[in-house]
Amino acid sequence: MSDKPQTSEKMQELINLAAELDDLSHINALMGWDQQVYMPRGGSEERGTQSALIGRLMHEKLTSEKVGKLLADLEAEVGDLNADTDEARAVKVFKKAYEKQTKVPWPLLMEFIKVTTGAHEAWVEARTKSDFSIFQPYLQKIVDLRIEYAKLFQPYDHIYDALLDDYEPGMKTADVKKIFDELRPQQVELLKAIAEKEPPDNSFIKTHYKTEYQELLGRYVITRFGFDWNRGRLDLTAHPFTTEFGQGDVRITTRYLDDDGGSALFSTMHEAGHAMYGQGIAAKYNRHPLSGAASLAIHESQSRLWENLVGRSKEFWSFFYPSVQMLFPEILGNVSMNDFYRGINKVEPSMIRVEADEATYNMHIMLRLEIEMGLMEGGMQVADLPEIWNSKMQEYLGITPKNDAEGVLQDVHWSGGMIGYFPTYALGNLASVQLWDKLLEENPNVHDEIAQGKFDTILGWMREHIHQYGAKYEPQELMLRATGSKITPEPYINYLKTKYGEIYDL
Ligand SMILES: [Zn+2]
Repeated sequence: MSDKPQTSEKMQELINLAAELDDLSHINALMGWDQQVYMPRGGSEERGTQSALIGRLMHEKLTSEKVGKLLADLEAEVGDLNADTDEARAVKVFKKAYEKQTKVPWPLLMEFIKVTTGAHEAWVEARTKSDFSIFQPYLQKIVDLRIEYAKLFQPYDHIYDALLDDYEPGMKTADVKKIFDELRPQQVELLKAIAEKEPPDNSFIKTHYKTEYQELLGRYVITRFGFDWNRGRLDLTAHPFTTEFGQGDVRITTRYLDDDGGSALFSTMHEAGHAMYGQGIAAKYNRHPLSGAASLAIHESQSRLWENLVGRSKEFWSFFYPSVQMLFPEILGNVSMNDFYRGINKVEPSMIRVEADEATYNMHIMLRLEIEMGLMEGGMQVADLPEIWNSKMQEYLGITPKNDAEGVLQDVHWSGGMIGYFPTYALGNLASVQLWDKLLEENPNVHDEIAQGKFDTILGWMREHIHQYGAKYEPQELMLRATGSKITPEPYINYLKTKYGEIYDL
């Protein structure tokens, strides 16, 4: 006798359906990867049609009447089970996806796809010409459609809740606001204190490093982290990202900049963090309703952990720096380990979010959240965004963009209709430190291990407490189980204060 409950016929039907949906989604991801890595420009129109077809097939599969009936039967069936069983969770997660998709009328979905397709091209042109007016009518339409979409989910506490929930299941606008309200004044205060100090020199990093050696180093570092090359690849793209075609094939990309020797290395560590999460989900969830990650914030906690907590730490560099110095003797031969460490951790308010350091990054997110909430609530108008953006940049970071390209037009997200996405970046930063603190509490030797180039305790802990569960728990519950608390800003604030207190002698 096995104590595992027998999989019922209906449950097997749900798992089979989820497996086919996963397959279709991975086929689409593979086409998307190819589009960015290999596809000649001439392929874009047909690729668009192919990808839309897969999207339509998925929508039809997920929203058919048969599925509604199956879920109703299964709910009755798992009603007797512990709510924590895989079966009960699978039904819950699948039902949520089903309800979200069936709530949206087909014409609204079609219009959204049409508008965002055009909006992307308009955004590219607007950004190239640094002219917000080109993008403005598209963004207006996107905001209108998102409001229409959110209203389908009434009643809600806040109109932004439905959008946030698409990326961060179970998280409410009020939770995020509370976290950010606590974070903001403390982070602003820290930045003010840092600004009064002499900045470290980082000119040695903002220069050309031989690309072949950068690649060698990136591969070496993530191999030591535990990136599984049997189930992954590293390729080149204009913008780094991670994608997966199943647990056995999780790919990352990077780019090498001519004027920044750190960019590729840190972004490779970042993407490897995402990828190792995907590689670490329990095999039993492969092609299963719980096959995904818990949320974007949890995903980002993993990438940030490897990039920042590990990759920008003193211990990490005490191990790697001698080899890096040998690889690039003409640049780093006379730069001491301590100067190098301070240089790569320089705090410098910048216009561009993706280039922001650890101390300023969240400010970029808070600005975006306030704008998104303002647009959804109706208190802000799309036409006023360039001005609102610039004045908030001045307020939070003390700098003003010189044009819209480095201001309101810098991110691709809104052109794709992704409103509600940005907060997950900041929540991921917070979660990364919260997990890190717990890991250290249970494994006080981790710093020493990093200094010896050993990372298996870190990866093992994340596998055990985060990765293996896939989408079984909502992010806040997963954090509660792993650390004893939902996402909270204190660990992050303490981390910033300690780290920069030492670097800047505050
Ligand atoms: Zn990321």
